[in-house]
Amino acid sequence: MVRDAEELVRAYSEPHLKSARPCPFCGDENLGVFQGPETRISHTKTWYVMCARCVCRGPIGASPERAVAAWNGDFEPVRRRDLGR
Ligand SMILES: [Zn+2]
Repeated sequence: MVRDAEELVRAYSEPHLKSARPCPFCGDENLGVFQGPETRISHTKTWYVMCARCVCRGPIGASPERAVAAWNGDFEPVRRRDLGR
């Protein structure tokens, strides 16, 4: 996907990133907040944090703030045993 420079500057200077943890995989702190896919039913925007070094992505959130919170681990994980496995 081609992104213009303005969008990249916005992604990497997102204010909520100040409270983001370093990347859990590579430890890098060079993170950006990008727009994810629209939700299928309500067609609202989603956001996610991406590590610039190893290109891993965090969970999607309904706002940049929620995306950073999810990146930091503030979400309810579905456990496998809850699925009857
Ligand atoms: Zn990383």
